Amino acid sequence: MAADKRPLYIDGNWTEPSGSEAIPVYDPTTGTEIRSIPSATEADVERATKAARNAQDDWERRPAKERGDLLREVADVIENHAEMLAETLVAEQGKTRSVAEYEIRAAADIARYMSEWDRRIEGDVVPGSEPRQSISLLRKPYGVVAGIIPWNFPISVFVRKFAPALVTGNTTVLKPSELTPLTTLELVEIVDREVDLPEGVLNVVTGGGAVGAGLVSDSEVDYVTMTGNVDTGKAIMRNAADDLTRVSLELGGKAPAIVCADADIELAVENIVASRTINAGQACTCVERVYVHSDVREEFQAQFVAAMDALEIGDPRDDPDMGPQVSEGEREKTQEAIRGAIEQGAEVLTGGAAVHDPPTDGGHWVEPTVLADVDQGMDVVSEEVFGPVAPIIEVDSVAQAVEYANDSHYGLSSYVFTESYRDAMQIAEDLDFGETFINGSGGAQQGHHIGWKESGLGGEDGKHGALKYTQIKSVYHNFQ
Ligand code: NAD
Repeated sequence: MAADKRPLYIDGNWTEPSGSEAIPVYDPTTGTEIRSIPSATEADVERATKAARNAQDDWERRPAKERGDLLREVADVIENHAEMLAETLVAEQGKTRSVAEYEIRAAADIARYMSEWDRRIEGDVVPGSEPRQSISLLRKPYGVVAGIIPWNFPISVFVRKFAPALVTGNTTVLKPSELTPLTTLELVEIVDREVDLPEGVLNVVTGGGAVGAGLVSDSEVDYVTMTGNVDTGKAIMRNAADDLTRVSLELGGKAPAIVCADADIELAVENIVASRTINAGQACTCVERVYVHSDVREEFQAQFVAAMDALEIGDPRDDPDMGPQVSEGEREKTQEAIRGAIEQGAEVLTGGAAVHDPPTDGGHWVEPTVLADVDQGMDVVSEEVFGPVAPIIEVDSVAQAVEYANDSHYGLSSYVFTESYRDAMQIAEDLDFGETFINGSGGAQQGHHIGWKESGLGGEDGKHGALKYTQIKSVYHNFQ
């Protein structure tokens, strides 16, 4: 892979960066450096956004089906190279082999699903207010879209940004996370070789937050789509406000799971364990707090602790249940959250702030951890914990569970487990969250993944995730 030599993809070419600053990329399992990537300079970012601008008119004017066909080819090449991409993803992010393969499949699915919007972008025709007049409401692209990508699902989020932007006629400049840029660069290399995308339609610049900030404030950028944490989202919105660049922000979460007195406990345990520990607890949709009815608290807790305790942590290449945290910084934040909870009175039922038998030296390990004696006021209940830590809070009623769940500045995913149709429907309606999973977990492309409150602004996937990359233009037809 030539990513370390030619890491900026601008105007259909791998180009040398104009600066010399390099950022090392580490393997989270061993702590060793895999390779380094350069930090793009302001001039590099400008070259990329200009290339996107120059390509945009032609791209927009192509028949939508042609854009869709090219995206279908992107989906094919992702599938054809899935094994290699998954290997790189495991190496740089530390997710297990199965989760990496799932992410690559999801990336292909996103490209394919979004490609199908090519001939489905519909406007409206409404009657005019004058005799012999009609009004067309057309959906037009914004122009140049900047995509800013997090490290936790680097390749699926990358595709989640550029596929809907491109199918609707925008061109793109994307910046992967400085922690996990390598799978993205590998995919772009494959696309460059095997798909005949016009030059300038897809551009990639690498670097850290400052490069992202430069991209947001670049005057050629018409729309910023970012996934990351809440503070970064707010900084981007402030930055974009200067020239009213449109923003779409997909931010952090603090998903509650409500386990009702009549829940299928086995099903609840299975789903909550999977959700809390997927990608070592580093997903925005992870269950981060469990509200259990007092009638079933003991039964749930016993099964849940046993299941968390039984999880195998280890080298993600061997495909255990859980790999390491992505970085030393993330490991320390998770362990600090556990220490803080203990100081505030929580009891550790399994796991804890120390790892007794680390699977490898130099890896960033945290054990699956369950906390009891937790109350609603603790930090571990209110702040996002991006690691496998599950606080259990006992509640006396469905109403109390909903009140506690809504007592949060986050509003992304939420979960409810009950056998009662009426309770499920009422709880789903009362939860102030962009998505609610009843007796299950895991979203779908045709749904809509959207954060309410401080969890975001915009939303992704489905019809609304495609159409958000369009703006409406009214055309008045007078034919008297
Ligand atoms: P982050 O906010 O630290 O970084 C995200 C991206 O923003 C990176 O590419 C980073 O370089 C860039 N960046 C940092 N500062 C910037 C600035 N001032 N201007 C422009 N760009 C800047 O987030 P992260 O740690 O990479 O990702 C984890 C977070 O993402 C978690 O909070 C998680 O919940 C959230 N997330 C949300 C979703 C969702 O769909 N809602 C999905 C995945 C992750």
